[in-house]
Amino acid sequence: MYTVGTIFSAVQYERTQITDPQLEIVDLAYDTRKIRNGSHSLFFALKSVRDGHLFLQDAYQKGVRAFVVSDQKIDSQNFPDANFIWVSDVLEAMQELARFHRLQFRKPIIGITGSNGKTVVKEWLTQLLQEDKRVYQSPKSYNSQLGVALALWNLSDDYDIALIEAGISLPGEMALLQKMIIPEIGIFTNIGAAHASGFSSKKQKLEEKLLLFSESKQVISPSYYGIAALLPPTVSVFSFGSADLDEVKLLRVEDHGRADSTIQVSYRNEIATFTVPFRDKASIENILICLTALLFLGYSLDAIPQKLAKLRPLEMRLQLKTGKNGCSIIDDTYSNDLASLQIALDFLFQQQQHRKKSLILSDMESLDDKLRKKLLQLLQRQDLDHIILVGEGLSYLKQHLTNNVQLFTSTESLLRAMPDISFQDESILIKGGRVFHLEEVSRLLVAKSHETVLEINLNALEHNLQLYRGKLPPDVKLMVMVKAFSYGSGSYEVANLLQYNKVDYLTVAFADEGVELRQHGIQLPIMVLSPDEQAFESLLANRLEPEIYSFRVLHAFIKFLRNRNLQNFPVHIKIDTGMHRLGFMPTEIQELINVLRDSAELLPASVFSHLVASGNAEHDQFTTQQIELFEQCVDSIEQKLGFKLLRHIANTSGIVRWPQAYMDMVRLGIGLYGVDMGNALDLEMVSMLKTTITQVKSLPAGETVGYDRKGLLHRDSRIATVKIGYADGYNRRFGEGVGAMSINGQLVRTMGSICMDMCMLDVTDVKANEGDEVIVFPDLMKAASSIGTIPYELLVNISSRVKRVYFYG
Ligand SMILES: *Cc1c(COP(=O)(O)O)cnc(C)c1O
Repeated sequence: MYTVGTIFSAVQYERTQITDPQLEIVDLAYDTRKIRNGSHSLFFALKSVRDGHLFLQDAYQKGVRAFVVSDQKIDSQNFPDANFIWVSDVLEAMQELARFHRLQFRKPIIGITGSNGKTVVKEWLTQLLQEDKRVYQSPKSYNSQLGVALALWNLSDDYDIALIEAGISLPGEMALLQKMIIPEIGIFTNIGAAHASGFSSKKQKLEEKLLLFSESKQVISPSYYGIAALLPPTVSVFSFGSADLDEVKLLRVEDHGRADSTIQVSYRNEIATFTVPFRDKASIENILICLTALLFLGYSLDAIPQKLAKLRPLEMRLQLKTGKNGCSIIDDTYSNDLASLQIALDFLFQQQQHRKKSLILSDMESLDDKLRKKLLQLLQRQDLDHIILVGEGLSYLKQHLTNNVQLFTSTESLLRAMPDISFQDESILIKGGRVFHLEEVSRLLVAKSHETVLEINLNALEHNLQLYRGKLPPDVKLMVMVKAFSYGSGSYEVANLLQYNKVDYLTVAFADEGVELRQHGIQLPIMVLSPDEQAFESLLANRLEPEIYSFRVLHAFIKFLRNRNLQNFPVHIKIDTGMHRLGFMPTEIQELINVLRDSAELLPASVFSHLVASGNAEHDQFTTQQIELFEQCVDSIEQKLGFKLLRHIANTSGIVRWPQAYMDMVRLGIGLYGVDMGNALDLEMVSMLKTTITQVKSLPAGETVGYDRKGLLHRDSRIATVKIGYADGYNRRFGEGVGAMSINGQLVRTMGSICMDMCMLDVTDVKANEGDEVIVFPDLMKAASSIGTIPYELLVNISSRVKRVYFYG
């Protein structure tokens, strides 16, 4: 690794202050929550959603003594012994450093880009090459301006080849990525409609992407995207397709209708035919790209079929599942290397629901002595209660770790011992390479349930959070609504992520929901919308802050606090400015002030109201009135009480449409979960309800399907039964063709009535087999309007018997 002296001379700077040029830097840090090795980290004060300069002291406390900053006003006197470098742009400085480091790497780097498939191709190619090469791949989704810089930093001579993924969303970005990656070899996977937003045309987007290859020698790609004509003459294309010029010629692809396809290709007058365990077009294209890359890298055609047959679909993201004995299981059993282990450990410590944390870890491929040492250091920095190691190669760790460590020579021996190992109320990270099949260990630990699952994408949730936060000025606080099981997507798992992302407040509907959060590691202040008198005790015991909406509740709560001799308990005063649900009417404000003035028991932590139609332009005038009325009410309360109050009124649509309503805080709800309500934002859908086909039948015209013979077949049909019914939250009104689900990307309609635990789909016109996955709401907005409701209702009605699985990474 480099010293501070070397690093500071590798980037362009305005000035420096060097106290220890010999200080060795191992890690690049930009998020103080993730600092584990402070004294050997270089902290970059990035200006992203939050300004990194605000966290310099925090980083310093964690031992950091080297900083890259852009704010001239930072006074290094406040950081004794620290090294500082002032640059004009901190991210650019990190990128320069990444480029500097990359230039030390003499082995081939393959740069991968394209609209779709780049991650799959990267992961598959790693699998394929790993048998005989030490492969470095950029971790999971590290393909952005920041991600690529971090990915390159971990490159070292321990590897024979590196695969680096590059992704862009705006013009100008690829040139910056190219300057860091400088790939000798390129792979261009695909051009699709995805991510077209920042670009004026498809051609502009394509040309921009191809800038990754401006200094490459060769690019591997399908010929049918026509990239050859757009590349500089110095770059040649090694292509597959059915054109005469293609190096690898695709002769045929045959779909067997079940789980696999046969592909036939020719290369240099040889022909190979092989079967792969995939049917969909995208996977076939990705396989052909990998095959072409292998041929390019010198593998012989006859060695390839055997390799490709081993490919498996990617389960790239780690999954958080509910385990037995009150445990949470973080299942990341698809691949194992240092970078992805670090990500998974960060996630383990982000989820605070259990104090006890355990790790089940398999051996890794391509570990040499240096990487072994790094792995040991990584584990030494974590506060793990129990470590279970799988594989002889990890035995060296045992003597160096002071934790409770168990070693098993193989997954089989661990599986045999499992009944004797007790796991209770803890978070368990299971991290293993594919060959170790640790998913079998995971299966033993995960609670059994019904096969319909609600998949919750925590990355999407984080993305949506940043999107809304990006709209707010930095001094506006953010309260997030996690009522009704976080709009159906789970309680403490989501709340833990929000806490990690430093939102200011959480809100639940009832005290019980708040108690559940407190029991699972949530420390944030929590507001309770409908506090019952019976729940006052539990508000107190769990530091939950009630909404006070009427004199009845106000007096009851004051009496309750007075009996316990308590003062200054935080409460939230709700004013009714037009919703006419809960809240004090403006005419009651005077009396309210009198009571508040005389009651030291309470401390109004905030005053708020709720907009009835912030998303609806037709009622904009009413919204303006609500905002004005609210401001007047709070002004007069403040005046009489003699101090300022935190005020808030805007919900999701208010954040998008009513900047004048931001005040001190906003309350984000449905938008966080990816439902846009017509505001045309770039939100990502957070939850996806999935089920499976249990049976498929062919039936002649004239037969009927389901109860009361409602589903009359007008033609010879194929009918699929799926495992979801109204008890799962699939409304009966979706019956008789109203509901649409998606199978392998094809839309199908319901047939007959919805049953309690199942329903039937007409799959006559599509490919559908038993065991196929079914997406229940391919378009949530449309589904809601087809039965005359709103997405909120569909989400919160998904029954708690439907297993929630969280994805992250
Ligand atoms: C549910 C709720 C919100 C959030 O509304 P969205 O439309 O989901 O953003 C805000 N404030 C109150 C009082 C609520 O009950």
